[in-house]
Amino acid sequence: MSNYNPVELILAKRRGQTLSPGEITQFIRGFMAGRIPDYQMSALLMAIYFQGLEASEIAALTKSYIDSGSSLSFPDALLVADKHSTGGVGDKISLMLAPIAAALGLSVPMISGRGLGHTGGTLDKLESIPGFRVQYGIDEFKSLVEKHGFALVGQSDELVPADRRIYALRDVTATVESPGLITASIMSKKIAEGSRHLVIDLKVGSGAFMPDLEHARELAALLVSTGESFGQKVRVVFSNMNSPLGLAVGNGLEMIEAIEYLKGNPLPDTKLLTTELVSQLLISSSLASDSGEAAKLIDGAVASGKALQKLEEIIIAQGGNPRVLQDYSLMGTASCKLPIVAKDSGYIQHIDCRAIGYALVRVKAGRMKVSDQIDYGAGALLIPKIGDYVRAGDPLGELLCNDSAQAPSVVELIRAAYRIAPEPLPREELILDIL
Ligand code: URA
Repeated sequence: MSNYNPVELILAKRRGQTLSPGEITQFIRGFMAGRIPDYQMSALLMAIYFQGLEASEIAALTKSYIDSGSSLSFPDALLVADKHSTGGVGDKISLMLAPIAAALGLSVPMISGRGLGHTGGTLDKLESIPGFRVQYGIDEFKSLVEKHGFALVGQSDELVPADRRIYALRDVTATVESPGLITASIMSKKIAEGSRHLVIDLKVGSGAFMPDLEHARELAALLVSTGESFGQKVRVVFSNMNSPLGLAVGNGLEMIEAIEYLKGNPLPDTKLLTTELVSQLLISSSLASDSGEAAKLIDGAVASGKALQKLEEIIIAQGGNPRVLQDYSLMGTASCKLPIVAKDSGYIQHIDCRAIGYALVRVKAGRMKVSDQIDYGAGALLIPKIGDYVRAGDPLGELLCNDSAQAPSVVELIRAAYRIAPEPLPREELILDIL
């Protein structure tokens, strides 16, 4: 970092100037080497949040993240594919998608993240399984994928370590919703893991980082051009995040919902989205010629029990206790269960999914600071979607947690997240567009 003073670079970005690739590389290297402390990194992130990043800066940041660790490459014969979500509330799709895709012959080296802001993270959900290990070196990760057809791991000292540390800082410094930072974070993981076919679940709405389709399309263009510049085939599914996805929000609860899905009991919205995302991968990698054929293959993988077997196989391979598939209490329990009840009759007009996500952080379903421990049993089961009719006194859902002092106020926060009015409202589409 001898040629660069971090303060000058923070100042330049704060003033809206474009940093050179060399400056970005030096900043990330200095941070990873311990020469730049968290507080200067956080200040740069906030400057980026307000001023944005140019395409050249995003490319340099993505490359610096990748170069902070090692990259995987697989033999050409393997159909290496993956999906990544931009983050939502109740989004447990990866937990079903990866075993289904592996059961159908794709190789899925999935590098995921932890909870971010108000959204949940695949790693935290997986860690509700006692013993499940998500930290792997590059060689072990590769052999898991080659042996089992998939692996579900996190960033590590060898795998995009810069994203691991910066992701954790963004989570607790309100610097998540930056298209440039999101692009570098997602694409560095998906390029370093060696995926050739990628589908992005780009979430739009009250529980997403992108509030509307216009902003989502801008992010999609950045994700696609970054992936393509590294030789990836990238497809984007824009999905509605105005209602929580499925029923469960919270780590152990979402794991249970995913297991039930693979046992043949899917919920309508999670089934629709999982099928669309896996179909995109099957078609991109020529395992299916169209969505009809893809849907049949996917249904077969679940009905035959092969996808559930794949999940069991990876739980065992990654050190987890496979008894969770029968005994859900192993993934966390809740001493406190409170109903969340509608106060008015009418149609659900709006659900503030972000407020729900942050309310659940108060009972430790997510983190307020990097060092916080998650309570895997904490979360909520949330029933109605936008457009549904409820009567005063009907359950909107149930809060489950182990913090009886916080619980009543969290119930109130969740109840307040639902706006109910007499005017009927059509149900919203889940899949908004496909690119
Ligand atoms: N998922 C990621 O991996 N990174 C982000 O920044 C947002 C969602």
